[in-house]
Amino acid sequence: MSILVVGSVAFDTLKTPYGEREKIIGGSATYFSLAASYFTTPRVIGVVGDDFLPEHESVLNTRGVDTRGIQRAKGKTFHWGGEYTAENLNEAKTKFTDLNVFENFQPEIPAAYADTEFLFLANIDPLLQAHVREQMTNVALTGGDTMNYWINFKREDLQNTLAKFDILLINDNETKMIAADPSLPRAAKKVLEFGPKALVIKHGEYGATIFFRDGAYGLGHHPFRAPALPLDEVRDPTGAGDSFAGGFMGYIASQEKLDREVLKRAMFYGGVMGSFAVERFGPERLQDLTRDEIEARFKIFRELTHLD
Ligand code: AMP
Repeated sequence: MSILVVGSVAFDTLKTPYGEREKIIGGSATYFSLAASYFTTPRVIGVVGDDFLPEHESVLNTRGVDTRGIQRAKGKTFHWGGEYTAENLNEAKTKFTDLNVFENFQPEIPAAYADTEFLFLANIDPLLQAHVREQMTNVALTGGDTMNYWINFKREDLQNTLAKFDILLINDNETKMIAADPSLPRAAKKVLEFGPKALVIKHGEYGATIFFRDGAYGLGHHPFRAPALPLDEVRDPTGAGDSFAGGFMGYIASQEKLDREVLKRAMFYGGVMGSFAVERFGPERLQDLTRDEIEARFKIFRELTHLD
């Protein structure tokens, strides 16, 4: 079924213990849609500048991503610079954030996208997230992300927007910041009180946990944790979270029904896509995967968690 992501399409300049890259394609919508493209046909809404060339767009189109929703504006494409140290590969140190045309991004929904059933609102202004959600009347499930900037400076808008998400996908720190509580399970409960039915907390190299609101997606409220595959070499962690979200939501969109079992499997597919993303620089590895490679890694995740 159709899935739409609204987020950044960017150039990234990256430095990790394994090397450096200058102005390579990145952005939350890029990682999300490439990861989701192995499960369904993603649609993208974002904005790029004059320096975004056909060769950049074809990275997405080659994977079947529908880019009709990418707007072109006069000026330069959003450019983000990040660095990771060997001691902490989980967290990027932001070197610069040149918003460029992203600063005035006003998502416009092409008529062809009106029938979209699954929506992912990547990390953008919560007011824009809410605005998109309100216009998408056929959506059955909305996933969303956010970041510390919005938590600190747009708290009220963010709280209103959280009520419109079915599933929020964020990391440990963001969860604690939103809830203003240093205990993760307690913070998760508080975040769920703002409205989402489920909360996926990404723990970087340690996996991810899904917390449910009582009664949502079936009986019970116990959280479920999926481990991450221990990888010998993480070359570039950029986009791991968005690739997780793409695998998670893409898998959900490919299923007939949505219950707790589907959500658990989606957690593994999220982990699979995140683990591929970090093996090479930028979204390189997400461009040439096969379904067999994805299933082989999914099987390892299953074996990791089965006792018999
Ligand atoms: P992740 O590593 O999954 O958190 O996502 C990394 C991607 O987010 C990079 O490709 C960046 O281009 C993009 N990014 C970084 N900062 C921002 C921001 N302030 N707004 C939107 N996207 C961003």
